[in-house]
Amino acid sequence: MRICRYDDDKVGLVRGDDIFDATAALDQLPSLRWPVPAGDALVAHLDVLKPALEAAADDSHPVPVASVSLKSPVANPTKIIGAPVNYHKHLEESRADAEINLGRDIKTIDTYGLFMKANSSLVGPGEGVALRFTDRRNDHEVELAMVIGTGGSDISRDDALSHVAAYAIGLDMTVRGTEDRSLRKGIDTYSVLGPWLVTADEIENPDRLDFEIRVNDEIRQKSNTEMLIFDCARLIAYASSFMTLYPGDIIMTGTPEGVGPVAPGDTMHAWIEGIGEMSVPVRAHGA
Ligand code: MN
Repeated sequence: MRICRYDDDKVGLVRGDDIFDATAALDQLPSLRWPVPAGDALVAHLDVLKPALEAAADDSHPVPVASVSLKSPVANPTKIIGAPVNYHKHLEESRADAEINLGRDIKTIDTYGLFMKANSSLVGPGEGVALRFTDRRNDHEVELAMVIGTGGSDISRDDALSHVAAYAIGLDMTVRGTEDRSLRKGIDTYSVLGPWLVTADEIENPDRLDFEIRVNDEIRQKSNTEMLIFDCARLIAYASSFMTLYPGDIIMTGTPEGVGPVAPGDTMHAWIEGIGEMSVPVRAHGA
């Protein structure tokens, strides 16, 4: 099942190149009052909502995917977790590029662990990326994103993938500099999730997915998740050894070699095997 959020917070099922409005199924969600339970309500109740989503979609008239504005399919994560230097070839390019390393001795995820991206940085492809500090280098990082379904703490590697509700494409946008990652990668619009959630049953092996990103017509990054240093299961086990994961939490799994700058006016086209493709326009903040 492919689930998107679009336009004025409609929920849709994606079938082929069309979106079927399934918003009526949200009536099945429990009404919330403060303090709301941690996590994303749609993802938390996805298993019970699936029949209602299908039924609502069956009753609706399709619209082309290209005719809507796609938002982040997760609305309310408790956290967005990032994986620093989780591909060896990205380590090599980071060590070779002074505009990335800024004189620092770059290591891998084995040394750094994980980092957090501000939840307020999260957007969907239709909203685009608004660059700040355009006198500095702003880079794209395309990554497989995992969305947690069943939460938990101290999750074992063997159980880890059963905690994934869905996969999506993540863009971990980054302004290069000496500040902490959480600041440089936490800017408004610097976390893009889309184009939709592909439920985990449709992805046989998340550690064997081709993916790429083009900027305008130029291929910048092209790899396969089999090159991950910490694979998908290990990322979940590792993260949950520090903190409880909640439904809707997003883990961006790290980026391969080929990171590079974007500028206002560019369009990024990201694709992951089995998930789909999304186009993300780049503009200047305030423009
Ligand atoms: Mn990254």
